[in-house]
Amino acid sequence: MKTTDPATAPDADRKVIGESGSLFLARLQGETGVNVGACYQCERCTNACPVAGYMDLKPHQVIRYTQLGWRHELMHSVTIWVCLSCEMCTTYCPNEIDVAEVINHLRNMAARSTIEPREKDLAEFHHVFLHELQRFGRVNELWLMAAYNRRLGVLKNKLRDGSLVEDLRLGIKLWRRGRLRLVPHRSRAIQEIRRLYRKKGVL
Ligand code: SF4
Ligand code: SF4
Repeated sequence: MKTTDPATAPDADRKVIGESGSLFLARLQGETGVNVGACYQCERCTNACPVAGYMDLKPHQVIRYTQLGWRHELMHSVTIWVCLSCEMCTTYCPNEIDVAEVINHLRNMAARSTIEPREKDLAEFHHVFLHELQRFGRVNELWLMAAYNRRLGVLKNKLRDGSLVEDLRLGIKLWRRGRLRLVPHRSRAIQEIRRLYRKKGVL
């Protein structure tokens, strides 16, 4: 029988500690503090999720895949980008499993990796959102959209599919209702937020 010498194995065959199986589970539980192992697949999290219909992996499946250490499937899922971080799943879990935090953590792991995101526009928006939050400690909608639209390819796509006009219409509506501020206000908790960014390794 043919055996592979680990020292000469091709890169694709090599496993990095914490990248799969029980080590991935231990790593994720250690980094989030969430007891993923307590899940018994009741699916209440999925039933509570407002966007479960748009996900390829439902919230309860995300937790199951995490238990199994299936990092590859999780990192390449649509779910990690579609999730709204609304925390309904967490609220309804009878075992107090912070499903939203697990998904958020997976999204940040994917954002820091070289993996091509399944939902490119949402991944781009995620980066811009986090960047704006780090700058001011809160997000100014006008500045957020301006920063997002400046990204390479975003404006071109929006001009092509007509969504820029829809954005402008919505912007005017919000402006008339006094919901948009021209100048962003810096949060008093800015240093605390930046400290959290450093601690979590975000951006
Ligand atoms: S609600 Fe909690 S226990 Fe039930 S499937 Fe979701 S994570 Fe698991
Ligand atoms: S945090 Fe994400 S997964 Fe949980 S209910 Fe909200 S959208 Fe669904």
